[in-house]
Amino acid sequence: MAITILTHGTIIDCTGADPRPNGWVVIEDQRILETGQGKPGTLPPGTEVIDCQDQSLLPGLIDAHVHVWTADTKIVEQVRRNFTSTLVIKTEKVIKETLDQGFTTVRDCGLADPGFRQAVADGLISGPRLFVCGTWLSQTGGHGDPRLPTEVGPPYPRAAGGITGICDGVAEVRQGAREQLRQGVDFIKIMAGGGAASPSDELDTSQYSLEELEAAVFEAESAGKYVAAHCYSDRGIKLCCKAGIRTIEHGNLMTESSAQAMKESGAFLVPTMATYVMLSRMGKELGLPDKFIRKINEALDKAENALAIALAFGLKIGSGSDVLGSMQVNKGLELALQAKIMGPMGALLAATKTNAEIVRQEKDLGTIEAGKLADLIVVKGDPLKDMGLFQNYRENITLIMQGGRIYKNIL
Ligand SMILES: [Zn+2]
Repeated sequence: MAITILTHGTIIDCTGADPRPNGWVVIEDQRILETGQGKPGTLPPGTEVIDCQDQSLLPGLIDAHVHVWTADTKIVEQVRRNFTSTLVIKTEKVIKETLDQGFTTVRDCGLADPGFRQAVADGLISGPRLFVCGTWLSQTGGHGDPRLPTEVGPPYPRAAGGITGICDGVAEVRQGAREQLRQGVDFIKIMAGGGAASPSDELDTSQYSLEELEAAVFEAESAGKYVAAHCYSDRGIKLCCKAGIRTIEHGNLMTESSAQAMKESGAFLVPTMATYVMLSRMGKELGLPDKFIRKINEALDKAENALAIALAFGLKIGSGSDVLGSMQVNKGLELALQAKIMGPMGALLAATKTNAEIVRQEKDLGTIEAGKLADLIVVKGDPLKDMGLFQNYRENITLIMQGGRIYKNIL
């Protein structure tokens, strides 16, 4: 039985409660035993004491929309330009750097297969707890179809978690979903509308029929899982809500009418603002096609408006960065961007408590409460005053604990 106490820090427990200065957290083995303020009671000899003076204690962050396998920004090209072995090694680096950024749990929204989840769970590599969907389902010409309009051959074959699950019609969607479920994914990801990094569509479109979306939901729910949908447009969001899709990814073109549909269906929104900001800034130098950059800017333009509507409608709002390639180290930027609309506490709750609900781990993760797994981070200063501090994570995140195990401690 190992006991650790973190003392003298300000606890932001992310239950929605106010910060508690001069707080302490006792950890026994993997879990949080007790929290409090002031002077803790007597602790058994051998207790490890970590002084967190001038620091804030938070639950480990959760990113509900990552792509750890996209080590290169040009996700289609990376299959052409890398051997599978190289991509796997690059992915390991991305996974480790995600934990370095204070994310102790992430939900991968496409391309990482369950093997990466297992590698982390087995301790082969350091990284956040992973929840994966494997290969996404896309219709022909949809957001998951990487072919240029001029290319008429079949899509690239799948390679080590990669690209692509094209399926059309109810029967193929069923088979596609069942294939991913057979491989042990945690949820199904479906492309329900156009996207920025796809050559044959526009953002303001819907993809898949109601029947196809319903088939994916039926198969996922039959296996006790759920569906997450990539979607921007009103029409797409409404179809997803009708089909029973649980999480809407991005949602940038949302209006009051689609927000109302989400309210009624109880779907979560996972805004992903960091990726548009970064891609808009760096897309040209990264060599992205003009069409992609135009669509990225359209999405960026509407992102704050959509989030404000979601907030006004009281939707359940999570947090995802969706960053790719060299931007993988900018996951913390999402908190600062969402804070502009939701306030700093709102952005923190999205990236902890609500994201824990999204990955269905609210019993174990997302807040600092007795009985939960000890996924904790300690940060220098006060994130409620400076949400930008997560971006300089090497210096500002002074301790990272995952399931009671100290991964980093520079206090
Ligand atoms: Zn994504």
